[in-house]
Amino acid sequence: MSALFPALASASSKPALRFGDQIVSYARLRAAAGALAPRLVGHERVAVWATPTLHTAVATVAALAAGVPAVPLNPKIGERELAHVLGDSKPALVLAAPGAALPGGLAGLPRLDVGTGLEESAAPGQEAPAEDVPWGNPALIVYTSGTTGPPKGVVLPRRAIAGTLDALAEAWQWTGDDVVVHALPLFHVHGLVLGVLGPLRRGGTVRHLGRFSPEAVAGALAEDGTLLFGVPTMYHRLAEAVGEDRGLAAALAGARLLVSGSAPLPLPDHQRIEAATGRRVVERYGMTETLMNTAVRADGPPAVGTVGVPLPGVEVRLVEEDGGVIEASDGETVGEIQVRGPHMFTEYLNRPDATAGAFDGDWFRTGDMATRDAAGHYRIVGRRSTDLIKSGGYKIGAGEIENALLDHPSVAEAAVTAAPDADLGERIIAWIVPRDAGRPPTAEELTEHVARQLTPHKRPREVRFLAALPRNDMGKILKRELR
Ligand code: ATP
Ligand code: MG
Repeated sequence: MSALFPALASASSKPALRFGDQIVSYARLRAAAGALAPRLVGHERVAVWATPTLHTAVATVAALAAGVPAVPLNPKIGERELAHVLGDSKPALVLAAPGAALPGGLAGLPRLDVGTGLEESAAPGQEAPAEDVPWGNPALIVYTSGTTGPPKGVVLPRRAIAGTLDALAEAWQWTGDDVVVHALPLFHVHGLVLGVLGPLRRGGTVRHLGRFSPEAVAGALAEDGTLLFGVPTMYHRLAEAVGEDRGLAAALAGARLLVSGSAPLPLPDHQRIEAATGRRVVERYGMTETLMNTAVRADGPPAVGTVGVPLPGVEVRLVEEDGGVIEASDGETVGEIQVRGPHMFTEYLNRPDATAGAFDGDWFRTGDMATRDAAGHYRIVGRRSTDLIKSGGYKIGAGEIENALLDHPSVAEAAVTAAPDADLGERIIAWIVPRDAGRPPTAEELTEHVARQLTPHKRPREVRFLAALPRNDMGKILKRELR
């Protein structure tokens, strides 16, 4: 049985984790995780109060080493959601940073303070934590983002974590020399699995900024960062800043790879970053349930606006509504993405109904709709439940209309939804945050812009103006709240 983190055995002085100015070497991480792991053994599950700090990384590594499934908790979680997650996952205790204030909802759970290896009492050189755990055992229980409904607990086996990280390593030539820079939350797979466990599995370095800012990104990339991981709202802020900030442009241009995921990156943001840096952001597509499915490869064409090609070991197919598999690679025919492979979850916790409903045989139904072009690149058009609009006999992807709206100079943010319509079946509604609230564009101007850029049947029938779009902690637009 090979280990998830071979580099932990070496106890080297190389930095494993850097959060702000705090740097933890592999030797110290091994000591800190090694001290904690034995205290977790024997429990069925433990919760981790997942602040964006060293403690979350150490606690997660210790739980993985002990073979005890960890449930990362959003430190901004509300009372109701916390009660739901605790009732569902029943952790034996909660791991937290010393001094972190925990909400009343956690008062019933024993608390275990997590050391980071930087304490004066810490003794580097301690034994490496045992990692002799079968690949099929559950490693993490991660709750989905709750974009389309209440979050579900996704049970991820060790095999899926190792498999997805090794597939990304192959696609991005990701090695132990890479320093991954990010400011992602650590209670979803993007920040935790890709952003923390990823560099540790490679024997490289995690560099977490604590709080996102274009200045912090520029500083870290200029110093030693090689890979930047972010969500579209972060790249949007970089795109807004990069035209004016030559230091930022140079830092982004010098990175080995700029990676976006968790939601679609609007084309105008791609274009502004490329114009200022000469570099193209690459997208990867995944979900809590499947970890990563596709990615734009480091050694392939940049394929802007697509989520790239299937990762090694991952099988992807597009399926029509009637269940027929789409053979065409014409860049036009839209179908649901279904995937299978060793990178998948085993079940939704306590939800055999939802688990069974999510599969067609051994194919997982992602609920995401996409096209595939002749080069095999997938282009996501939206989610089956909220983004596929059936209007006037056409099937229209909300994303395409959103990109067209964002291309209008007076539009800062855009989201497209559908409402039932007696004539059209569904009618297209555009939700717009104007760049200048005092001088919003007119509805006619926007609908004509879409009709001109796309085709007339894709123009919104209604335009509504908002001060901000409702988004969750990953920056995903909450369309159910709009509707
Ligand atoms: P819930 O399942 O609770 O409704 P969620 O689906 O947003 O929430 P996650 O598992 O965090 O929870 O997100 C996965 C989803 O994010 C995918 O199904 C897809 O819709 C979207 N996504 C991820 N990466 C990309 C990408 N590069 N481009 C477009 N969409 C993406
Ligand atoms: Mg989902």
